[in-house]
Amino acid sequence: MFAKRFTGLNPYVPGEQPKDRAYVKLNANENPYPPSPAVGKTVHEFNVADFRLYPDPDAAELRAAIARMLGLGVTSDMIFIGNGSDEVLSFIFYTFFDSDRPVFFPEHTYSFYPVYSGYYGIPFKKIPLRPDFSIDPDAMVAGESSGIIFPNPNAPTGMYMPLAELRTILARYPADRAVIVDEAYIDFGGETAIPLLKEYKNLVIIRTFSKSFCFAGARLGFVVANPEIIKAIFVTKNSFNHFPVDVLTQKIGVAACNDSEYYKRINSLIASTRDSFAEALRGSGWEVLPSLTNFVFARKEGHTGSEVYEFIKGNGILVRFFNIPGITEFVRISIGTPEDMRALLDIMKRI
Ligand code: PMP
Repeated sequence: MFAKRFTGLNPYVPGEQPKDRAYVKLNANENPYPPSPAVGKTVHEFNVADFRLYPDPDAAELRAAIARMLGLGVTSDMIFIGNGSDEVLSFIFYTFFDSDRPVFFPEHTYSFYPVYSGYYGIPFKKIPLRPDFSIDPDAMVAGESSGIIFPNPNAPTGMYMPLAELRTILARYPADRAVIVDEAYIDFGGETAIPLLKEYKNLVIIRTFSKSFCFAGARLGFVVANPEIIKAIFVTKNSFNHFPVDVLTQKIGVAACNDSEYYKRINSLIASTRDSFAEALRGSGWEVLPSLTNFVFARKEGHTGSEVYEFIKGNGILVRFFNIPGITEFVRISIGTPEDMRALLDIMKRI
């Protein structure tokens, strides 16, 4: 009954989403704070009759609001939006990576990349990280690839690649193949690659509203790239589903963009909570990789990530571990409120 291509699928497994709120959730890199009050106001004032009509397929107002918020010379025709960056990524894989040469991504990275490769029949090569778990720019550009993709900062390590290293990649990579930089976590301390778009027409930047904009449940992600690239992604999208983001999400997206001051405030609070949590954890004998994200990747000698996860879960908090050789000792901990992190620190000190 099932097609051959279906039986070969290897789907992504997301972090646990318990419905009963029995746990403090520090396992999916969600934002612990609510969206801006302007978003709440927009939801309350929304006229449900507007659901009768299809949404604007060009999302013109939202794309203009995103461009305005980003500044840095970005214009609406440099923005493409989708239902979360996972959907955007699916269009990117379809548009830029071929089946005759592998796509390159880091050995430890966002685990949806191999899933999409499998879905579209694109071969891939995992490029080893350096011994300190950072991405190796030389290795990313060595050998034949049909494109490269990595998050900056990387997940699940949290480590940021300085723009000078990204420049090295762009300068050495063939200009007719795409370099995709997934900036899902850029708002927690890293410097965006957007200014490099002027110089490198093959650079494609992906962003999400799920982390720094507190929208994980609303589903909104976008691409920032040169207009030719955006046009190409629209061709892919319009060959699949031409009405992606619903009317209400488009409206709350605009409201969020117009209140970027609120988000700067909560995200810098998350960054300082992260730094003091990481320091306290190191002081208790944990190794914590340097993070510029809303999570930290930590291990303690003599313990596996799965043991640590179980102990913490037994005390009411969910974190995440990975049964992947090379990172089995680590747990990934999303940064919550200062109170959440104090409670977690007390638990982790007992390990
Ligand atoms: N990229 C990276 C690196 C991520 O960690 C995530 C979150 N799981 C995503 C993309 C997808 O985010 P979303 O689909 O919620 O926008």
